[in-house]
Amino acid sequence: MFWYFVAQSTGILLYYSSDMDYTIDDVIKAREALLSEKSSKEVKELLRSPQFGALFALLKTAPAEQKSQLGKEVNALRAEVESWAEAEAEEAVEPIDVTAPWAPNTPTEKRPRLLDSSLGSQHVLTRELEKISEIFQRMGFAIEESRQIDDDYHMFESLNFPEGHPARDDWDTFMTDDGLIAPAHTSTMQNRMLKKYRANLETNEPIAVVVPGRTFRNEDLDARHEHTFHQVEGVYVGEHIEVGHLVGTMKTFLGDYFGKEVDVKITPFYFPFTEPSFEFSLTCPFCEPEQSDCAVCSGEHWIELMGMGMIHPNVLREGGINPEIHTGFAWGFGVERLVMMKNNIEDIRHFNSGKLEFLRQFGGTR
Ligand SMILES: [Zn+2]
Repeated sequence: MFWYFVAQSTGILLYYSSDMDYTIDDVIKAREALLSEKSSKEVKELLRSPQFGALFALLKTAPAEQKSQLGKEVNALRAEVESWAEAEAEEAVEPIDVTAPWAPNTPTEKRPRLLDSSLGSQHVLTRELEKISEIFQRMGFAIEESRQIDDDYHMFESLNFPEGHPARDDWDTFMTDDGLIAPAHTSTMQNRMLKKYRANLETNEPIAVVVPGRTFRNEDLDARHEHTFHQVEGVYVGEHIEVGHLVGTMKTFLGDYFGKEVDVKITPFYFPFTEPSFEFSLTCPFCEPEQSDCAVCSGEHWIELMGMGMIHPNVLREGGINPEIHTGFAWGFGVERLVMMKNNIEDIRHFNSGKLEFLRQFGGTR
């Protein structure tokens, strides 16, 4: 008895001989027939085919003296077919160029192969940054992206930290040998925003810009401190602008972001680039004042969120704006802190960890 498969474009045929004698050559022939016809699809079809099932069914009816050898040969053939399928599946994972450069007009078929985006999802920080930007856009702010490498002028000088100013130490970050700086805050963009939008003031329009961006600090890492994080900077300049406008703007934003009205308070602080300067706190959106076991605020009910203040006259002047006529406010908050509060995330290091277990909680499809 012998049989072998031939895979054809129309399906798979099982050749069966009623001759009860079979030899090892017959199994070799079956193997060669498979090999000559196989492609990824056909190998998978072979493994699932009714003919393959029939082959094993026939084992039961084979003469007792032939069962042992027949079973051995057929099993060996199946193992071999399975290994082809595995090898082909591995070959199917082609390397990709993650930098994927191409000119925008390159025809689709000539572009580098990219990962199928349907297999992934947005990072939780990207998703939340989009929500934050969208809220501020509805409030009338323009959105501008910050830079990931900057210079001393934008990091310090333009913000009223002259050379040798002791407050520079509080913004300890990374610097290249030729003096370029990984920005320690998104305020590096303030001078640029004042200059870019100051023409608005001539037509009685305010300067209203929000700048989300990646920031860097030389930190000792722990559950609340990362060397790389995100900030959202806000700048608003117009006539007769005062602290009440600043507080109202942030209260409106936070109420929208958390979907719940929050109480806010400001306490005096010091920053070189704002005068007066404040620390801004909000009531915990996740508990009631008498609740003492809240994981987000540890029962304090007040959460310090950000630094802010009225833009220092020197900073306005450096941006080409007359502080006798126009005043404004600025703030900068950490995005991770806000997102951690909202999603009950206990460790800031999860964001950059690349752990799929963490990422999949926020809308991952795989
Ligand atoms: Zn709380």
